[in-house]
Amino acid sequence: MARVYNFSAGPSMLPEAVLKTAAAEMLEYGTTGQSVMEMSHRSKEYQAIIDAAEADLRDIMGIPENYKVLFLQGGASTQFAMVPMNLMTKNKKADYIITGQWAKKAYKEAARYGSARAIASSEDKTFSYIPTVTPDMIDPEADYVHICMNNTIYGTKWQTLPETGDVPLVADISSCILSEPIDVSKFGVLYAGAQKNVAPAGLTIVIIREDLIGHAMDITPTMLNYQTHAEGGSMFNTPPCYTIYIAGLVFKWIKSLGGLEKMGEINREKAKMLYDFLDGSALFHGTVVPEARSLMNVPFVTGNAELDAKFVSEAKKAGFVNLKGHRSVGGMRASIYNAMPIEGVAALVSFMKQFEEENK
Ligand SMILES: *Cc1c(COP(=O)(O)O)cnc(C)c1O
Repeated sequence: MARVYNFSAGPSMLPEAVLKTAAAEMLEYGTTGQSVMEMSHRSKEYQAIIDAAEADLRDIMGIPENYKVLFLQGGASTQFAMVPMNLMTKNKKADYIITGQWAKKAYKEAARYGSARAIASSEDKTFSYIPTVTPDMIDPEADYVHICMNNTIYGTKWQTLPETGDVPLVADISSCILSEPIDVSKFGVLYAGAQKNVAPAGLTIVIIREDLIGHAMDITPTMLNYQTHAEGGSMFNTPPCYTIYIAGLVFKWIKSLGGLEKMGEINREKAKMLYDFLDGSALFHGTVVPEARSLMNVPFVTGNAELDAKFVSEAKKAGFVNLKGHRSVGGMRASIYNAMPIEGVAALVSFMKQFEEENK
């Protein structure tokens, strides 16, 4: 078996220890005589799996008591509609900050349900920075302010949250969930598709302050109402059972490493290794301003499209896959989520050094 170092932006690598446990439990989970895939979601065995997943997530993220954790389907993209349908109902307006394609999609979707206002954007420079947002830019009557915390395509991250006063802050954390500690109490809603840093595709995690539940628009489909899932314990209908089980294994893996403090330390070390190399390289350079750099997604270019393509192709042959950048940025992107071991980043950096030497 030859496993590659997979730098995909998502779906992405899972921790090898988790895959091994899942493989060992594939045919029989515990003494149930069946796979988790085959279990009734109403069985007591499965209830124990989903309960443990929620308890471990609450533990590692320090989720306060007055927040609900929901395990949903539909991806982060469905949250682009669920957030406005459930929250844009008091004054029917919301403020959006446009830091990339996902933030823009969220904004456009919200505009279908009320008055969405784009209060700042970094589109003028291909989203290579995070715009400054001062408190006076925020409408105090907005029902919420939406940000995309880590911009997967462009490789930027909010290092300091915007001051929104009493207006709830809603954040898409699809590509940075569990990458480092986060103060959940600063947010009204956090949401994330699982396939970047948590589990296989098919699960969306929503963490929502309880007072924001129960105010959905009348037109809201039952399945898109947070209240439905909060009251049903994420079991109103069949949840993505197996993906929740894998997510639960990932939560336990993070706990075993030492939690999010430790995870953040490891991620900072990995990212620093790559950024330090890029800063010193004569061939490669990063595309993001230093003060907005993501720990998870690192885009870089040589400035020569042909050389970029040669790099991606040679890297693939050497066992470093999915390094091609998003079409809107070009060049390369290394996504170094939690499951990417430090050895993978070190090996990529030595490969880049060698490529630079050979292509002077
Ligand atoms: C991948 C991604 C999305 C889209 O997620 P889906 O689960 O495919 O809908 C949204 N936002 C961010 C920040 C992402 O990285």
